[in-house]
Amino acid sequence: LKPEAIFPGRTNSQGFDLCDVTTLQKIAAARDPFERHEWSAGPMLAVQTAPTQAMHRFNPACPDDLVGTVRDASFADVETAIAGATIWDAPVAERAATLLRAADLMEDAHGELFALLAREAGKTLADAVGELREAVDFLRYYAGQAVEGTQPCGIFTCISPWNFPLAIFCGQISAALAMGNGVLAKPAEQSPLVGARAVEILHQAGVPRSVLQYLPGQGAVVGAALSSDARIGGVCFTGSTGTAMRINTAMANGMSPSVPLIAETGGLNAMIVDSTALPEQAVRDIVVSAFQSAGQRCSALRVLYVQQDVAPSLLRMLEGAMDELVTGNPWHLSTDIGPVIDGPARDKIEAHVAVAESEGRLRKRLSTPQIGNFTGAALIEVSGIEALSEEIFGPVLHVATFRARDLDRVVDAINAQGYGLTFGMHSRIDDRVEQVCARLHAGNIYINRNQIGAIVGSQPFGGEGLSGTGPKAGGPNYLPRFAAASRGSEAS
Ligand code: GLU
Repeated sequence: LKPEAIFPGRTNSQGFDLCDVTTLQKIAAARDPFERHEWSAGPMLAVQTAPTQAMHRFNPACPDDLVGTVRDASFADVETAIAGATIWDAPVAERAATLLRAADLMEDAHGELFALLAREAGKTLADAVGELREAVDFLRYYAGQAVEGTQPCGIFTCISPWNFPLAIFCGQISAALAMGNGVLAKPAEQSPLVGARAVEILHQAGVPRSVLQYLPGQGAVVGAALSSDARIGGVCFTGSTGTAMRINTAMANGMSPSVPLIAETGGLNAMIVDSTALPEQAVRDIVVSAFQSAGQRCSALRVLYVQQDVAPSLLRMLEGAMDELVTGNPWHLSTDIGPVIDGPARDKIEAHVAVAESEGRLRKRLSTPQIGNFTGAALIEVSGIEALSEEIFGPVLHVATFRARDLDRVVDAINAQGYGLTFGMHSRIDDRVEQVCARLHAGNIYINRNQIGAIVGSQPFGGEGLSGTGPKAGGPNYLPRFAAASRGSEAS
C-alpha cells in the first residue's frame, strides 16, 4: 500500500488524519489476504490465552491466515468475573472524560483497527472506516448524554454481534458505562479480537478493570451464564431474534423482572419503488442497501418491490449496476463486496440461492474469488415478502413486482411478517409516501435514499415487533434504560 493511495490529505468529520504513515505501515504489515504465502506474520493479537482454552480466529477472506487467539472463557471464568465486578463509582464528569479519552485513543489506533476489522471480520476498508467512526461517535455521544442523579442498574451484560464488532460493541458498553454500570462484555465468537483491542483501549483511557471485564467465549457458555445470573443488573444484546428470545426466557427464570433487556435483533427489510421514482437514484440506493457490507447488516434491504410498469427497465439497470460490483479482497479500495463472516454463513446463503436457481428464480449471480468465504451477490425473483421464512444474512436481494392498485396489500404483507427494522421507499408523490409510511411498521424509514448506515445522534437506530425491544441506539431515549428507575418514577 502506498500512503498516497489512500484518502490523500483527507480527514474525517472529527478531524483525524487518515493518511499518516505509521498507520499505513501498520495496515501494510497486516498483510494482504491474497498474498498469504509471502508473509510469515504470526498471530496479530494474543489475549489471555491458555492452551486448552484458546479460540483461534482466521481471516474470512483467507481461511489459513491466523489472525489471533483469545481465551475461550469457561463457566469458572464467568464466575470469577461476576464475583469481581464493580459498578463505576466515579462522578459523571470523570466517566464522560474517560469515554472521550477512549474515543481519541481509538482514533489514534485507526490503522490497527482497520486492519483488525478487515482481517478478522472481512470488512472492506470503506466499511472499516465507517465502523470506526460509528464507534467513536457512540463513545462521544453517550459521554455527552450522561447526567447526574441517576443510579446504575448494577453489572450489565453486553452481548454484541460480529457484523459490527467495534461499533455496536463500543455502543453497548459506553452506554452502560456512561450511566455508572459495571460491564461484562461478551463479543461474538466470530470477532473477539476487535473487541479485545477495544477493551484494551478503554482500560488505557482509564476505565477500571473491575468495571469493564472482557469475556470472549461461546454463547452457550458465557452468554448463557451472563443472561441467567441473579447478580446481573441488566442485559444489552444485539443479534438474532431467536437468541434474544432465549435470553429473555433465561432472564425470566433467573433474574428479577425489573432487570432490563435491551435487544436489537433481526429484520426482513423491504423497499418499495414506484413508477415515479428516479431510476438511476433508486438503483444506486438499492445496490448500496442490499450489497454493501456483503449484505451483513440487519438494516440491509432483502425484498425489493418494483411497480410493474417500470420493472423491466429498472431491473435491467439494476443488473447492469450489479455487473460493476467488485467482489474480492477487502483490502483493495476498489472492492465493493468482501467475504461473508464464516463457512457456515456462506453455506447457508449458497443453499438458499441454489433452491432459487433450481426453481428458475435466480435472475443474476456474480462470480467470486475461489478462496475464502465469498458468496456471489444474487438477485432472486419472489412473489412477495411472504415467500421468505427468515432473514438471509448476505448479499442476496429478492425482487417482486406490484401493480399500483395493490400497494396497500404490499404494505400489509410487509407488516405481516412481524419484523419492523428498516424500510425504504422511492417515489416522487409525497402523498403516497406519507400514506405508506403512516401504515408501515418499521423503526427506521428512509425515503429516496439508501436504507443503511444510521448516524449516531441524528438517526437513532432500532426496530419494533420482532426486530427489538427499543429504545433506539444513538438516540436520546437510550441511556435512561441503563439506569435504575428512581423511586419517583416507580411511583408515577
Ligand atoms: N446501524 C446499522 C445500520 O444502520 C445496522 C446495525 C446492524 O446491522 O446491527 O446500517
